[in-house]
Amino acid sequence: MDIANAAKELERLAKEIARHDHLYYNLAQPEISDHEYDELRRTNTALENEYPDLIRHDSPSRRIGALPQVDFQKAKHEKPMISLEDVFSDEELCSFFEKGSRFINIPGEQFVCTQRSMWAELKIDGLSASLIYVNGVLTRGATRGDGSTGEDVTQNIKMVRDVPFLLPAHPPLEQHGKPNQRIEVRGEVYMTKEDFAYLNKSQTEKREHLFANPRNAASGSLRQLDASVTQARRLRFLAYDVVDDCFETQESVVDYLNRCGFVTVFPARLCCSMQELSDYYHYVEAAREQIPYDIDGVVYKVNDRKLQSRLGIIGRAPRHSVAHKFKAEQVETKILDISIQVGRTGTLTPVAELTPVNVGGAVVSRATLHNADEIARLDARIGDTVILQRAGDVIPKIVNVVTEKRLPDALLFTFPTQCPSCGRNLNPQDNRCLAGFECKAQAIERLSHFVNALEIDGLGGRNIEFLYDTGRVHDFVDIFTLQQRNEKNDLRGDLFAPAVIATPSADSEKNSSKRIFNMHPLENENGWGSVSVKNLFKAIEACRSVPLDKFIYSLGIPQVGKQMATLLSKNFNNFTELLDCSVDRLLHIDGIGTITAEGIVDYLSEQRNVFTQLLEHVALCQDTHEAKLLLSGQQIVFTGRFVEFTRNEGKAQAIRLGAQIASVVSKSTTLVVVGKEPGINKNKAVQLGIKVASEEDWLNMLM
Ligand code: NAD
Repeated sequence: MDIANAAKELERLAKEIARHDHLYYNLAQPEISDHEYDELRRTNTALENEYPDLIRHDSPSRRIGALPQVDFQKAKHEKPMISLEDVFSDEELCSFFEKGSRFINIPGEQFVCTQRSMWAELKIDGLSASLIYVNGVLTRGATRGDGSTGEDVTQNIKMVRDVPFLLPAHPPLEQHGKPNQRIEVRGEVYMTKEDFAYLNKSQTEKREHLFANPRNAASGSLRQLDASVTQARRLRFLAYDVVDDCFETQESVVDYLNRCGFVTVFPARLCCSMQELSDYYHYVEAAREQIPYDIDGVVYKVNDRKLQSRLGIIGRAPRHSVAHKFKAEQVETKILDISIQVGRTGTLTPVAELTPVNVGGAVVSRATLHNADEIARLDARIGDTVILQRAGDVIPKIVNVVTEKRLPDALLFTFPTQCPSCGRNLNPQDNRCLAGFECKAQAIERLSHFVNALEIDGLGGRNIEFLYDTGRVHDFVDIFTLQQRNEKNDLRGDLFAPAVIATPSADSEKNSSKRIFNMHPLENENGWGSVSVKNLFKAIEACRSVPLDKFIYSLGIPQVGKQMATLLSKNFNNFTELLDCSVDRLLHIDGIGTITAEGIVDYLSEQRNVFTQLLEHVALCQDTHEAKLLLSGQQIVFTGRFVEFTRNEGKAQAIRLGAQIASVVSKSTTLVVVGKEPGINKNKAVQLGIKVASEEDWLNMLM
């Protein structure tokens, strides 16, 4: 590759890797597998080695993790929390040791030997955390963030099993000549495979989104604004380091941690030769399935802590420790069929039905093919032999088709033009089914999301399907009229008047005949006693008054998760205002881009009737907790450069105190906070007579 193309490629990789870092670390929703991500990084490193002059200031090789999220207070790390260099083979491991030995000028072959042993332990696939104890009391828990600043997750860390609140009264650190005033323990927060399976099972039952793997589940669960959610997720902690230079060896650090009551990594071993390291690696690789949590390799650490500090850090990783990662697991299987799943918003997702196969300890019989483009990219056909890969991810993916094994009868898959659930023609622009509640698959997904979001007990997945199939509940409004109709034995048969169905599927015919005629009171139905019906009606009644953000979230608007719902609720005085809003108005809210804005406006206009009717049954309130906040009801614009805080910090602080944020001054703005070199917003505020505050005024206001 020539220099100009290399520069372009490095720019592309920097942007692409930063995007995946945000998705992975901040949102816990990676789009690509760890293996693919590692490939991007390796391409970047190879190009940087070839063209060292082209290394960018924002190069991924200089960055760790992702910036902390504004939702949390920042937690500065006294000593950076760094990453680890990866090696995938014995040759790469040798060259890692050679680089280290050149740096401290000892012969390569003596790097790992009896005097200079290596501490080998498992590489847990979780997220790193720092715990600070002052006088033996846990005072702060933080995530790694970008390595120098993480997120303060103290309340959540306290909900993690295996994290001691108090260290022993006579701390063993004193034996190392130090009083135990302040110590920092580092380790990994993780979720066991069993707890992960349980979590995803309950997410499935609640029809909430599934986590891709235990690491993402652990990351999403630790970084929750509500610590009780963290508590329910059964996270655990394995300690592997103490930030203190009083220890002579890594082994003694682990020993100290054990004596303090922490759980440490097992099995771990002191290795004195390359052969012993290799034996440990192969032993762990063979035992991987029996280990109750996911690991993605092993870590070797120079045992001598003085040598560790001499070796120091290069870029984003130390020279004294290295991760020897496992290769991605790949197996062959066959596509038996391709089925279509209809999602909440009518999106059709093709799913490969596979000959069940064991990959990485899990039996897999289905894999998503995402969309028609992915099927075309893979050139996947029904009957094809394919390679299924599981690379640290619990959700395996089809990486390619073994074309040499293709049989003549392999069938090209034709993407349907009609919805497989309701038979209606798809929207030609985006291949979506626009039937909304008229389509059973969509209706069930929407209703399930709605009842979960509003926490209506007694309406789990199967119950809602039953109510839909028996003609009792067809959309959100029906939930609130169910009791009254049940008492009158009126099942709203009119709801199911024949729709314009192009080619009714077996499914839709079956369901429509089931739906219309069923006139028993609910309590006489199989599986529904009078007590459960009474409790259900009580739970529904309790939801007649709902905070605005919860209500917005419950509607299942595309791209609107809990955080987005909160943002919307802070920027609109009531739901009708949101229902009437334009794309333009949404684009003025920081954090909303064009795709989200268009998605919101389209969906709200498609569902306008249902939502308007719903408002007759539900009273909406702004969160009462918010109402008491200092800046509730204010719309604030920050303009210019600030000295004591960054603009993002200012905005986050204002949001935390109940304000709405806008990027441009309008008639709805109540306050403009002005820093150095302000933009036109300041003049506009003066023209409109809106209150203007300096940086100092703002800080005084918060005191
Ligand atoms: P890393 O996970 O490869 O290695 C460093 C981390 O290992 C440390 O921060 C620590 O948290 C952890 N660790 C686990 N066990 C340890 C032990 N016994 N001793 C010391 N540390 C231990 O590095 P990273 O920078 O956190 O993440 C990079 C990896 O994350 C990538 O290789 C990739 O697998 C994954 N990733 C994936 C995506 C994606 O989109 N799929 C995006 C970003 C990162």
